[in-house]
Amino acid sequence: MKINMFSSLKKIIEDVNEASNLQQALNIIVHDTRKVMRADAVSVYFRDEKTDQLVLMATEGLNQNAIGKIRFNLDQGLVGLVLRQAEPVNIEDAHSHPNYRFVTETGEVSFHGFLGVPLIQHRHVLGVLVVRQTRKRRFSANEETFLITLAAQLAGAIAYAEKMGELKNLLDDVDTKPFNMKGLIGSPGIAIGKVLVVFPPANLDAVPDNAITAVETDEQIKAFDAAVMKVDHEFRELSKRMEGVISNEELALFDVFALMLKSDSLIGATINRIQAGQWAQGALRDTIAEHVRHFDAMHDAYFRERAVDIKDLGRRILTHLQAQHTSCQEISGPVVLAGEEVTVSQFAEVPVQNLVGIISKKGSATSHVAILCHAMGIPSVMGLDKLPVNRIKGQEIVVDGYGGQIYVKPSPSMLQEYEHIVRKEQTLDAELKELIDKPAETTDGIHIPLYVNSGLLEDITASLNSGAEGVGLYRTEIPFLMADGFPGELEQTQIYQQVLQSFSPRPVTFRTLDIGGDKALPYFPVVEDNPFLGWRGIRIMLDHPEIFLTQIRAILKANIYDDNLRLMLPMITDVSEVDEAIALINKAHEELSAKGIDVPYPAIGLMIEVPSAVYQMTALAKRADFFSVGSNDLTQYLLAVDRNNKQVSDLYNSLHPAVLLSIQQIVKIAHKYHKPVSVCGEMAGDPASALALAGMGIDILSMTAGSLLRVKLAIRSFTIKQLEKLAAEALFMDSAEEIRLLLNKALEDAGAGRLVRAGHR
Ligand code: PEP
Ligand code: MG
Repeated sequence: MKINMFSSLKKIIEDVNEASNLQQALNIIVHDTRKVMRADAVSVYFRDEKTDQLVLMATEGLNQNAIGKIRFNLDQGLVGLVLRQAEPVNIEDAHSHPNYRFVTETGEVSFHGFLGVPLIQHRHVLGVLVVRQTRKRRFSANEETFLITLAAQLAGAIAYAEKMGELKNLLDDVDTKPFNMKGLIGSPGIAIGKVLVVFPPANLDAVPDNAITAVETDEQIKAFDAAVMKVDHEFRELSKRMEGVISNEELALFDVFALMLKSDSLIGATINRIQAGQWAQGALRDTIAEHVRHFDAMHDAYFRERAVDIKDLGRRILTHLQAQHTSCQEISGPVVLAGEEVTVSQFAEVPVQNLVGIISKKGSATSHVAILCHAMGIPSVMGLDKLPVNRIKGQEIVVDGYGGQIYVKPSPSMLQEYEHIVRKEQTLDAELKELIDKPAETTDGIHIPLYVNSGLLEDITASLNSGAEGVGLYRTEIPFLMADGFPGELEQTQIYQQVLQSFSPRPVTFRTLDIGGDKALPYFPVVEDNPFLGWRGIRIMLDHPEIFLTQIRAILKANIYDDNLRLMLPMITDVSEVDEAIALINKAHEELSAKGIDVPYPAIGLMIEVPSAVYQMTALAKRADFFSVGSNDLTQYLLAVDRNNKQVSDLYNSLHPAVLLSIQQIVKIAHKYHKPVSVCGEMAGDPASALALAGMGIDILSMTAGSLLRVKLAIRSFTIKQLEKLAAEALFMDSAEEIRLLLNKALEDAGAGRLVRAGHR
């Protein structure tokens, strides 16, 4: 027994270390401990420092619905005694102990044997790990030692989670208490709705916990049984089809599957978990994980292979379960999708008229889903890496895509405030529609063309409807991000043709592939310590001329409508990069001519988004036809602030005087050489910043379609002289805050104060 138990310890600790979050780690601990100690229930309680109470955090054997809800004071019960004494308590019959407390909610009344050990880290008691037995049982000294060893490991994990802020989220009882969290701005706007949790299909590891009510138990068991029947049927069919095709030995595997599908260890164990309060998908996930761990731990390679089979079996059952829509989540009214990593395909889980916002644990503004949100005008907050996805289902939530914040269970006053903003925005949007066909010009008639940023075929309609005069930035990496491998020349040409045709005769600026940094292609991983300072943009393209040439030929060949193509190179830091890239563009053009494909030679522009390029403007102006300021990267590199790091997001500000002074320098030299300059970073779409940019002489502002009419209203509220004066004043100021105040006040004074959102940006 001793050897067995302690050899399991190593495996449990390995599994716990692999858990992706604390809750998952706790679930593994209670599950594995229960099995190894042959106990009837195992539970973990944490001490909530804020309320000085003990909270049930994970259990197997007690009522799952009590998790996060059962709280009691430290002077109560046997668990409290373990915590106060900071020592194990091992009692044959808990009921006879004077400290025994009668609790019905957890179902612990039916247990007698009790062993509780404290979770101690640096002399501080963090919680209690408890093992219970239905019958009277005094746990052995070995078992006590085992549990103490395990508790010491667990305490380390909790202390780490505490440091990382994860514990606070777990302890905050989100079922009853509101909380807010800062993430990364995905796309702007405010959304108010109810949370719908999504997760990738046919992926057991991604299935979230979902506590069910007693009424739902039968329905979940029925759904599970039906899914098992379907898989059984599937295997029979497969087995029949394979007869004579594979050997009898291999065919026998189907019999093994059929037996497993009837086994108590798979079916019975899952049903037990459902009865304990977990939904069918979560129960199946835990049962399969238990089997996989069991097989993985075996020395015999044959048995280890069975872990793969059991996973396959689990996935098949899950697929049928998910096909039955037993999601336990109802969709009505406005919905905010939430998940570990929300994907574009998950958009489809909600009717488009119900979808008002997206929040995701992983991702940033450059994630595909955020880009789509941007195009569709759906507010999103990404990178909420401590989001307790499992525990926010059905909660009311405010998504503030301007500030990258979410508020779960907002207070009535906060809700009122945000509802007011939403109403104001709706009124503004209705008013802005009138501007679609009006020119983007100052009150004294100076035209400042407004273009859109695009990258998805899906957002062409929104871009055209916004009244944009062209595309200032077409991010070609987006079709690459969606593909399974580098798209071929023909495939690329077809995509680019659609874009050029849709916007024709308006100009479309294709930026050549800008990957690296935070934009990793799944099929071309680049692993670096400092990706933003590493192999990015033009650097990768020059090192891979075969990929670059293919893209250039595809872009050039697509230019068959009104010669409305412009080509743009990202991440330029040195003139040699421009010379080499232009040499390759010439080569591609010549290759096409040699094949009899005569296409116009395009205008070539450079993105100015790295400080070295700002200082090399004279040399660059002699080589390029136009410039575009990538203010997102320029801000990040000038201020040394990672644009996707929440820790420093308060320091990231494109109105920083250094950014404005750089842009002034860019415009001055570009204009000296009669080369136009646009801005295609996010700041171009911010009405206040747009005033300063127009006043500094920027020729074109390019932004997400959703921002275009707001910027148009701002521009149409001033004379060019007023804008120039504003820019000149801003350039004399010491801080981004002062500049923001100046520009906001100007908007207010010009009667466009509704473009200034209280407290945002
Ligand atoms: C920028 O850096 O401002 C820009 C427009 O490019 P991206 O955000 O795609 O890096
Ligand atoms: Mg950039």
